[in-house]
Amino acid sequence: MTDKKQEVYIIATGGTIDKIYSPSEQTTILSEKSSIPAYLENIAGVKAIYKFEQLMMIDSRDMTDAHRAKLLNAIKNVPSSNIVITHGTDTMVETALYIGENSTNLNKTIILTGSMVPMDGFTNSDAGFNLGHAIATAQQKEQGVFICMNGQVFDPRKTRKNISESRFESPP
Ligand code: ASP
Repeated sequence: MTDKKQEVYIIATGGTIDKIYSPSEQTTILSEKSSIPAYLENIAGVKAIYKFEQLMMIDSRDMTDAHRAKLLNAIKNVPSSNIVITHGTDTMVETALYIGENSTNLNKTIILTGSMVPMDGFTNSDAGFNLGHAIATAQQKEQGVFICMNGQVFDPRKTRKNISESRFESPP
Protein backbone atom coordinates (compact mmCIF):
# COMPACT_ATOMS: atom_id res chain seq x y z
CA MET A 1 0.00 0.00 0.00
CA THR A 2 1.17 3.52 -0.76
CA ASP A 3 2.33 5.58 2.20
CA LYS A 4 -0.02 8.59 2.30
CA LYS A 5 2.87 10.88 3.04
CA GLN A 6 4.55 9.87 -0.22
CA GLU A 7 1.61 10.82 -2.44
CA VAL A 8 2.13 13.88 -4.61
CA TYR A 9 -0.46 15.63 -6.76
CA ILE A 10 1.11 17.26 -9.82
CA ILE A 11 -0.64 20.15 -11.58
CA ALA A 12 0.83 21.11 -14.98
CA THR A 13 0.35 24.66 -16.25
CA GLY A 14 2.84 24.72 -19.15
CA GLY A 15 6.12 26.59 -19.54
CA THR A 16 9.31 25.37 -21.16
CA ILE A 17 9.24 22.11 -19.21
CA ASP A 18 6.31 21.13 -21.47
CA LYS A 19 7.61 22.53 -24.73
CA ILE A 20 8.66 20.34 -27.65
CA TYR A 21 10.60 21.06 -30.79
CA SER A 22 8.44 21.64 -33.86
CA PRO A 23 10.42 20.86 -37.03
CA SER A 24 7.84 22.62 -39.20
CA GLU A 25 7.96 25.80 -37.12
CA GLN A 26 11.70 25.40 -36.45
CA THR A 27 11.27 26.40 -32.82
CA THR A 28 9.95 25.02 -29.54
CA ILE A 29 6.22 25.14 -28.98
CA LEU A 30 3.96 24.12 -26.10
CA SER A 31 3.00 20.47 -26.30
CA GLU A 32 -0.75 19.75 -26.39
CA LYS A 33 -0.27 16.95 -23.90
CA SER A 34 2.17 17.22 -21.00
CA SER A 35 5.35 15.09 -21.19
CA ILE A 36 5.40 14.68 -17.42
CA PRO A 37 3.37 11.46 -16.87
CA ALA A 38 5.31 9.59 -19.60
CA TYR A 39 8.60 10.80 -18.13
CA LEU A 40 7.65 9.73 -14.62
CA GLU A 41 6.35 6.31 -15.63
CA ASN A 42 8.66 5.30 -18.48
CA ILE A 43 11.94 6.93 -17.52
CA ALA A 44 11.89 7.56 -13.79
CA GLY A 45 9.84 4.44 -12.94
CA VAL A 46 7.50 6.51 -10.75
CA LYS A 47 4.01 5.02 -10.64
CA ALA A 48 1.92 4.57 -7.53
CA ILE A 49 2.77 7.73 -5.66
CA TYR A 50 1.51 10.44 -7.96
CA LYS A 51 -1.67 11.86 -9.45
CA PHE A 52 -1.53 14.23 -12.39
CA GLU A 53 -3.70 17.00 -13.78
CA GLN A 54 -3.01 19.17 -16.81
CA LEU A 55 -4.83 22.33 -15.77
CA MET A 56 -3.61 24.56 -18.60
CA MET A 57 -0.83 24.65 -21.15
CA ILE A 58 0.49 28.20 -21.47
CA ASP A 59 3.73 30.13 -21.56
CA SER A 60 3.99 31.77 -18.17
CA ARG A 61 4.47 35.18 -19.81
CA ASP A 62 0.75 34.84 -20.68
CA MET A 63 -0.24 33.93 -17.11
CA THR A 64 -2.82 36.42 -15.78
CA ASP A 65 -4.41 36.69 -12.37
CA ALA A 66 -7.45 34.90 -13.84
CA HIS A 67 -5.18 31.92 -14.61
CA ARG A 68 -3.70 32.18 -11.12
CA ALA A 69 -7.17 32.22 -9.54
CA LYS A 70 -8.03 29.07 -11.52
CA LEU A 71 -4.82 27.45 -10.26
CA LEU A 72 -5.54 28.43 -6.67
CA ASN A 73 -9.02 26.97 -6.96
CA ALA A 74 -7.54 23.71 -8.29
CA ILE A 75 -5.08 23.63 -5.39
CA LYS A 76 -7.92 24.07 -2.88
CA ASN A 77 -9.82 21.14 -4.43
CA VAL A 78 -6.87 18.74 -4.46
CA PRO A 79 -7.35 15.96 -1.89
CA SER A 80 -3.58 15.60 -1.36
CA SER A 81 -1.54 17.87 0.91
CA ASN A 82 1.63 17.43 -1.19
CA ILE A 83 1.38 19.43 -4.42
CA VAL A 84 3.85 20.07 -7.25
CA ILE A 85 3.00 22.72 -9.83
CA THR A 86 4.93 22.76 -13.08
CA HIS A 87 5.13 26.29 -14.44
CA GLY A 88 7.11 28.49 -16.79
CA THR A 89 10.12 30.07 -15.18
CA ASP A 90 9.49 33.66 -16.32
CA THR A 91 6.63 34.33 -13.91
CA MET A 92 7.02 31.42 -11.49
CA VAL A 93 7.86 33.80 -8.65
CA GLU A 94 4.74 35.93 -9.31
CA THR A 95 2.48 32.87 -9.25
CA ALA A 96 4.09 31.52 -6.08
CA LEU A 97 3.59 34.90 -4.40
CA TYR A 98 -0.03 35.04 -5.59
CA ILE A 99 -0.75 31.61 -4.09
CA GLY A 100 0.92 32.56 -0.83
CA GLU A 101 -0.90 35.89 -0.57
CA ASN A 102 -4.35 34.59 -1.53
CA SER A 103 -4.54 31.48 0.60
CA THR A 104 -4.83 31.00 4.33
CA ASN A 105 -4.89 27.77 6.29
CA LEU A 106 -4.39 25.64 3.20
CA ASN A 107 -2.44 23.07 5.21
CA LYS A 108 -0.60 22.01 2.07
CA THR A 109 2.98 21.91 0.86
CA ILE A 110 3.02 23.58 -2.55
CA ILE A 111 6.14 23.35 -4.70
CA LEU A 112 6.53 25.19 -8.00
CA THR A 113 9.09 23.96 -10.48
CA GLY A 114 9.87 24.10 -14.18
CA SER A 115 12.89 24.02 -16.44
CA MET A 116 15.05 26.16 -18.66
CA VAL A 117 15.24 23.41 -21.31
CA PRO A 118 12.25 21.23 -22.38
CA MET A 119 11.80 17.80 -20.83
CA ASP A 120 11.01 15.91 -24.03
CA GLY A 121 13.68 15.50 -26.70
CA PHE A 122 16.52 17.48 -25.13
CA THR A 123 19.37 15.50 -23.54
CA ASN A 124 20.72 18.56 -21.73
CA SER A 125 17.40 19.29 -19.99
CA ASP A 126 17.22 20.26 -16.34
CA ALA A 127 13.54 19.14 -16.25
CA GLY A 128 13.89 15.65 -14.78
CA PHE A 129 16.27 16.86 -12.09
CA ASN A 130 13.99 19.73 -11.09
CA LEU A 131 10.85 17.59 -11.11
CA GLY A 132 12.50 14.92 -8.96
CA HIS A 133 13.71 17.53 -6.51
CA ALA A 134 10.25 19.11 -6.37
CA ILE A 135 8.56 15.75 -5.70
CA ALA A 136 11.02 14.86 -2.95
CA THR A 137 10.59 18.29 -1.38
CA ALA A 138 6.77 18.10 -1.53
CA GLN A 139 6.97 14.77 0.33
CA GLN A 140 9.10 16.18 3.14
CA LYS A 141 8.79 19.94 3.53
CA GLU A 142 6.44 21.62 6.00
CA GLN A 143 3.36 23.40 4.64
CA GLY A 144 3.86 26.58 2.65
CA VAL A 145 4.70 27.70 -0.88
CA PHE A 146 8.20 27.09 -2.24
CA ILE A 147 10.12 27.09 -5.51
CA CYS A 148 12.45 24.20 -6.36
CA MET A 149 14.95 25.11 -9.05
CA ASN A 150 18.67 24.47 -9.52
CA GLY A 151 18.82 22.08 -6.58
CA GLN A 152 17.64 24.72 -4.13
CA VAL A 153 14.40 25.25 -2.21
CA PHE A 154 13.55 28.94 -2.41
CA ASP A 155 11.18 31.13 -0.47
CA PRO A 156 9.37 32.94 -3.33
CA ARG A 157 9.61 36.19 -1.38
CA LYS A 158 13.38 35.91 -1.53
CA THR A 159 14.15 34.66 -5.00
CA ARG A 160 14.28 35.79 -8.62
CA LYS A 161 15.12 34.37 -12.01
CA ASN A 162 18.55 35.45 -13.20
CA ILE A 163 17.82 35.53 -16.93
CA SER A 164 21.39 36.00 -18.17
CA GLU A 165 22.61 33.02 -16.12
CA SER A 166 19.43 30.91 -16.64
CA ARG A 167 19.02 30.08 -13.00
CA PHE A 168 17.14 31.08 -9.87
CA GLU A 169 18.94 32.86 -7.06
CA SER A 170 18.41 34.60 -3.76
CA PRO A 171 19.20 38.29 -4.22
CA PRO A 172 21.76 39.59 -1.71
N1 ASP B 1 8.81 31.61 -21.42
C1 ASP B 1 8.85 30.40 -20.65
C2 ASP B 1 7.77 30.49 -19.59
O1 ASP B 1 7.93 31.20 -18.65
C3 ASP B 1 10.20 30.24 -20.05
C4 ASP B 1 10.41 29.02 -19.20
O2 ASP B 1 9.51 28.30 -18.84
O3 ASP B 1 11.60 28.77 -18.85
O4 ASP B 1 6.75 29.86 -19.75
